Amino acid sequence: MNTREKTKKIKIGNLEIGGGSPIAVQSMTKTKTSDIDATVKQIHALEKSGCQIVRSAVPDKEAAEALKEIKRQINIPLVADIHFNHHYAIIAAEAGVDKLRINPGNIGNPEKIKAVVDAAKAHNIPIRVGVNSGSLEKDIKKKHDGHITAEGLVKSALNNVKMLEQFDFHDIVISIKATSVPTTIKAYKMIAAKTKYPLHVGLTEAGIPRVGIVRSSTGIGAILAEGIGDTIRVSLTGDPLEEVRVGYEILKSLELTFHGVTIISCPTCGRTDINVVEIAQEIEERTRFITQPLTVAIMGCEVNGPGEAADADVGLAGGRGFGFIFREGQVVRKVPEAEMVEALMDEIESMAI
Ligand code: SF4
Repeated sequence: MNTREKTKKIKIGNLEIGGGSPIAVQSMTKTKTSDIDATVKQIHALEKSGCQIVRSAVPDKEAAEALKEIKRQINIPLVADIHFNHHYAIIAAEAGVDKLRINPGNIGNPEKIKAVVDAAKAHNIPIRVGVNSGSLEKDIKKKHDGHITAEGLVKSALNNVKMLEQFDFHDIVISIKATSVPTTIKAYKMIAAKTKYPLHVGLTEAGIPRVGIVRSSTGIGAILAEGIGDTIRVSLTGDPLEEVRVGYEILKSLELTFHGVTIISCPTCGRTDINVVEIAQEIEERTRFITQPLTVAIMGCEVNGPGEAADADVGLAGGRGFGFIFREGQVVRKVPEAEMVEALMDEIESMAI
């Protein structure tokens, strides 16, 4: 792991990113933003799962006008995602959102960009310059033989940043997401060497959960391991709560955060005496909303289990018809198989309070 790059500190509502702040996990609503009730309901679920920043698409005027009421009902910073129509960005800023995500190149002429910058300045909110492989400018693509390249993405992002800086605006976050994992990694490494603005890291269109989780973990993980990145978003074709869970798992895997329960479980083998798969899934489900850092081990046998999971805070090792509950490598209880899960939950809850 490389040491984390120190970037500029930016405030998004009451949350700071960059400048050595903890890496923030964010997600995006998948409801119609104009449907205020559905969007607020989804954001409340995201808040409960630990999501720290939420973004909503603003594809039309109704969505822009819904932001004020959505913002009133939620507790985490809200980001308005706008393409093309600068009026929506101004309405969003006036609605009290905490950040705008735009591509200045998409907004059009300098007067329109200036109007968005003026609104961001007036409301003291940052702007994320979000470059995606899908929206890369045609002239940049042409210069790279029609291909999406890391160099092209970086050039586009820096051009877009310059458009904001020419209006003396420096409250900027940058993202440069491609669908290709190697291109995304290369692009983030390149841009981290060229700017001190904080970086929002992610892949675009990562895919359905199984594939998307692997691709996101590989890409985002590799970038974070380089010491690059101030906030992450895992994009999945699926439940946004899963994006948050995966985001934390990536950070926990790299020991960049210690948030919530980490379950370690053995792969099972011919010595396995209990249903490790079912138990691990049940414990994962029941501990999902514990935010305190805790490592829970679920091991298939008493021979190797407690020893292999000696670093866990609490754990269960299976025996024939019974299970051992252990804390910090020491067995504290022996319980019948039917009571194992509840006994483990009792131990977890006693430690989580
Ligand atoms: Fe097999 Fe026991 Fe190791 Fe699980 S902990 S893989 S059951 S030896």
